[in-house]
Amino acid sequence: MSYLKGKSMSDLREDNSAKIIEIVLKSGPLSRSEISNISGLTKASVSTITRQLIDEGLLEETGFQEGNKSVGRKRKNIDIVSEAKYVIGVEIGVKTIKSGIIDLKGNLLNELKISLNTKSEKTIINKTIDVIKKISANFKKNEILGVGIGATGIIDNNKGVVIKSPNLNWNNVNLKKEIEKQISLPILIDNNVRLMALGENRFCYNWGEIPRMLFIHAGYGIGCGIILNGELYYGYKFGAGELGHTIVIPDGPTCTCGKNGCLEAFSSGHAIISNYEEVKADSKNYLFEINNIILEDENGINYANEIMSKAGKYMGVSISNLLNLLAPDLVVLHGELFDSESYYSNVEKYLKSNFFGVNDKILTKRSKLNEKAAVIGAGALIIDRILLKK
Ligand SMILES: [Zn+2]
Repeated sequence: MSYLKGKSMSDLREDNSAKIIEIVLKSGPLSRSEISNISGLTKASVSTITRQLIDEGLLEETGFQEGNKSVGRKRKNIDIVSEAKYVIGVEIGVKTIKSGIIDLKGNLLNELKISLNTKSEKTIINKTIDVIKKISANFKKNEILGVGIGATGIIDNNKGVVIKSPNLNWNNVNLKKEIEKQISLPILIDNNVRLMALGENRFCYNWGEIPRMLFIHAGYGIGCGIILNGELYYGYKFGAGELGHTIVIPDGPTCTCGKNGCLEAFSSGHAIISNYEEVKADSKNYLFEINNIILEDENGINYANEIMSKAGKYMGVSISNLLNLLAPDLVVLHGELFDSESYYSNVEKYLKSNFFGVNDKILTKRSKLNEKAAVIGAGALIIDRILLKK
């Protein structure tokens, strides 16, 4: 049966089920005949598969479509049962582990956040395992599709290995294998900013209706998640999206990565704090944190305005370079630095003035998931890979 290209009938049935679930996630509630039109599957196949999925509790009939009373039989609508399954999302940051239980429509049901004061692999892995056990304690194992975990750095998402994370000071840590020793659920690992991009793309824009999206994170560090053709773009050896280490001034100041003149050495929270430490060297009791500097900027303190404006300028130029290279449909801005008016207004100014393309309305939006983006995005990864078999 060469036309099956090596797939068995049950593989095909599973593929078609995943296809229907994705269509309903994107555009539901829908009638069976609408699902048939969108999917290209026959009405008979759609009926059989939706019946199965309703029996499994993943889909439900939600009432009749309105407005077609005069054209004979009313069509029943079909929708996802958001609480049919749950996913666990975790973000391992430098100072915290955040976690949450997410339903199939991206609602965050439970949250648990703990502080970290160590970079020890062993301690952080044990704490992550504890967090997963605690947050899922009231759920049955078969209710949970899997655990998505985001961490900073370059991550082999196929093997679940943190290849290099300068922020955590980790090299070649097989996070997936370590977690699987204690947690008997499917575990997937990815870069935290990439997960933020996925979460925003899936849950805030109708499960991927924006096929080309850039997600820029500017906090203590700088990262970028790239979605092309509706899917995350990883690049050669998972290295795509290192916007923070693109060069804005050759031979400029030294970056945390050891190179000179990276964007991260100008426009990250880390760079802003060290610039601030220079100008406020005599303020012994001042707490050098991004939020405090943003506050001083809002209060019109001159050197705060200057430092934030300069940082925003280089960020705007860098985003415009990306726009000219990739021409995305949407750029999502995430992180507390974009809350600063001096920073953000220069981002917008330099982004627009350096844009070459013909699109007269460059679409930038603030993140809707904010500080929960990585946890919710980790849940989106599980839905994508496990439920939708992507
Ligand atoms: Zn760098």
